[in-house]
Amino acid sequence: MPDNHSPARRRVLALFGAAGATAMLLGSLPRRALAAALPHLSTATNATAKALNYTEDASKAPAPHKAGQDCSNCMHYQGKAGEAYGPCALFPGLDVDAKGWCAGYAVKS
Ligand code: SF4
Repeated sequence: MPDNHSPARRRVLALFGAAGATAMLLGSLPRRALAAALPHLSTATNATAKALNYTEDASKAPAPHKAGQDCSNCMHYQGKAGEAYGPCALFPGLDVDAKGWCAGYAVKS
């Protein structure tokens, strides 16, 4: 008959239990919480952003901006709904403002 109560067996079971609990906890965290926040895009430091008239406030964007256009509804925007900032395919490694805009805007289909 196997010894189900040996200290070694209890330690192994405790380790598996702790590992499982850790995996469940990490799996339940939002993906963005695990990723480091990206620096925000700025026209002061990014020549492409400046050339494309990027602004964090789409209401102040110059032509050809049209009312209702902002990063959150651009096909290049990769942020999640409801988040203030998110990645943009045109500016790898940087986050753009969900309420921003640039001349690279293309409506999300
Ligand atoms: S390409 Fe789209 S998501 Fe990226 S900065 Fe310009 S408007 Fe925003």
